[in-house]
Amino acid sequence: MNKPLLNTIVNPLLSWYYSSARVLPWRDNPTPYRVWVSEIMLQQTRVDTVLPYFERFVAALPDIASLAQADEQQLLKLWEGLGYYSRVKNMQKAALTVMKLYNGKLPASFEALKELPGIGAYSAGAISSIAFGLRFPAVDGNVLRVISRITASADDITDIPVKKRIEQQVTEILPTEAVGDFNQSLMELGATVCLPNGAPRCDICPLKHLCLGFEHGIAAELPVKTVKAAKRAEAKTVLVMVCGDKLGVTKRKKTGLLAGMWELPNIDGALSMEECITVVKDMGLSVNEIQPLTEAKHIFTHIMWNMMGYLLQVNEARNDSITWVSPKDLKERMALPTAFKAYIRHYYAYLNSNTGR
Ligand code: SF4
Repeated sequence: MNKPLLNTIVNPLLSWYYSSARVLPWRDNPTPYRVWVSEIMLQQTRVDTVLPYFERFVAALPDIASLAQADEQQLLKLWEGLGYYSRVKNMQKAALTVMKLYNGKLPASFEALKELPGIGAYSAGAISSIAFGLRFPAVDGNVLRVISRITASADDITDIPVKKRIEQQVTEILPTEAVGDFNQSLMELGATVCLPNGAPRCDICPLKHLCLGFEHGIAAELPVKTVKAAKRAEAKTVLVMVCGDKLGVTKRKKTGLLAGMWELPNIDGALSMEECITVVKDMGLSVNEIQPLTEAKHIFTHIMWNMMGYLLQVNEARNDSITWVSPKDLKERMALPTAFKAYIRHYYAYLNSNTGR
């Protein structure tokens, strides 16, 4: 379906890409490593934001061996501000696997790439095609939108079978040469011309004469996307405060979510390290050391907590709102909501490494 139409977009799109695409550092020198780093950074993040991070990252860690060996703090620092830190941690796990199984070189195989931590079908398709010239599609949200509009498809792109069908349609039209350029041209069109949220710039589009969405005057209404009932998202900063071997906990209010339960102290919003130190000082505690922790998510019925956290070593001080509990009490006597499980683990890890408990 629509194959003849879609076949006709290949050449005009490639010509447009060669004359109009943005100059981006990973396109200049598309080694597998650089393509991989850029694709992971670009997930949920805009190109403008990624540019300085990319340059810094590949300057500090120029190859897979250096990424595999990097100290976690250095990795987090290089990623600081990009968010979704699991992305960079997965990259390091993948780098270690690549060192072990592939002699430090990313495998030129879609299937093998997809086996690596943090690399899904989209990223595997992008790396396979851009870095290795393999004929695999790289269908992200931009591409789903562009194809839906060109074919005037009113199918819901959040449906898995619809996504699969579009992947199949793109696979069928992939050129034998310049497959990576073609995948990038589709993404580039979506990112710079066929813009989301009802704002396609059809007047300057190289595919205007072929696009059914434009011809039928419905481009701005496409693609169809079911909006799932949204949960209210709340950002939280969780404090894992340790004094000696004791953990600081507080009691929640008697009403509302998790009423009356013990919890790890937490503050609304995503606090920087400096802001966090100020909050803790305001509690009357002095901070000896602070270290950022992994992000975590917890989903309640109507609310989702997007949590970040810090491990803080603090000096004992009087503070009526904080209760200091021993590991034994915590294990045996206190019930903390599952929402904090990810951070309680950091407390135990701290005890293991500092007191051998
Ligand atoms: S003509 Fe408009 S809707 Fe069609 S591909 Fe171009 S920008 Fe998108």
